[in-house]
Amino acid sequence: MAGKSETEIISNSMPEEDPNQNNETSVSHTPEIEGVARWGPQHAGAKALASQYTFGKRVQEIICLAASLVLIAFNGYHLMVNFRWQNWQVILIAGLLGMMTADFFSGLVHWAADTWGSVDIPVFGKAFIRPFREHHIDPTAITRHDFVETNGDNFAVTVPFLAFMAYKFLTYSPAQIQETYNWEMFVFLLAIFISFTNQIHKWSHTYFGLPWYITILQDLKIILPRKHHRIHHVSPHETYFCITTGWLNHPLEAIGFWTFFENLIEKTTGNKPRDDDLAWAKKTS
Ligand SMILES: [Zn+2]
Ligand SMILES: [Zn+2]
Repeated sequence: MAGKSETEIISNSMPEEDPNQNNETSVSHTPEIEGVARWGPQHAGAKALASQYTFGKRVQEIICLAASLVLIAFNGYHLMVNFRWQNWQVILIAGLLGMMTADFFSGLVHWAADTWGSVDIPVFGKAFIRPFREHHIDPTAITRHDFVETNGDNFAVTVPFLAFMAYKFLTYSPAQIQETYNWEMFVFLLAIFISFTNQIHKWSHTYFGLPWYITILQDLKIILPRKHHRIHHVSPHETYFCITTGWLNHPLEAIGFWTFFENLIEKTTGNKPRDDDLAWAKKTS
C-alpha cells in the first residue's frame, strides 16, 4: 500500500470511526506536541483556522456556485438537444477520461495547496489555502461543513470553462456544434467531476449515515473509497493527493511523481515542502 503499513496508517492518522476524539490507543509520533490535542476541533490550529472562514469568503462561494449551476444547466441542455445516439461509445470514453483527468487535477491542486504557500499570503492564503490546513488537523470538520462551504471552490474552478462553452453554443452554427460535440462533452463531464470532487472527498470522511448507493460507489472504487483516502491522512501528508476517484494515486506514487516535483522545486527555490502545514500541526496556542 504505497509504502505505508496498516500500523503506520492507524497510529499516524486520526481515527475517523471515533470522530474528533484523540483516541487513547494512538501513539504520538510527534513528542513535541504530546499532551495537547493532535487532531480535531480542540486543536489550537484547527480552532484558529475555522474562525478564519469569513462572510466575504462565503459570499464568493455562493456567487461562484450559482454561476456554475446556471452554466451547467445551460450547457447540459444544449448537449442534450444535440445528442446523437450513434455517439454513445465516444461519450462513454469521454466520461471515463473526464473522471481520470478530474482525478489528476484534484491531485495536482491538492498537492500544490498542501505542500506550498501559506495561510499568510494576502487574501489568497486565507481564502484558498486555509481549508487545506484545517483539513489536516481536523479532518472530520469537512463532514460538518454545509454544501456551500464544501463545494463552493470546486464549482468556482469550472466557471470560466463552462462560460466559454456557453459562448460557443450561442455563436456556433449547428454544423460547428456537431464537429466539436465530443470535445465539449468531455469538457462538460470533466467540469461535473471537478465540481463534485470535494463532495466525494467529504463522503470519504463520512463513516455514519451515508446513503447506500454512495457506499456502493465507494466499494466499487468508482468514487474515492474511505480506506483509500485515509492513506493521505497519514502525517506528513506527502502522498495520495488525488481525491475524485483515487485511481491515479498508486501509479503516481509508484513513479515518484510528487517527490520528483518537490525535490525540483526545493532545489530551485529553496522552499521546503509542507513547511506551513507542519507549523499549523504544531500550533499549541
Ligand atoms: Zn491534504
Ligand atoms: Zn481528506
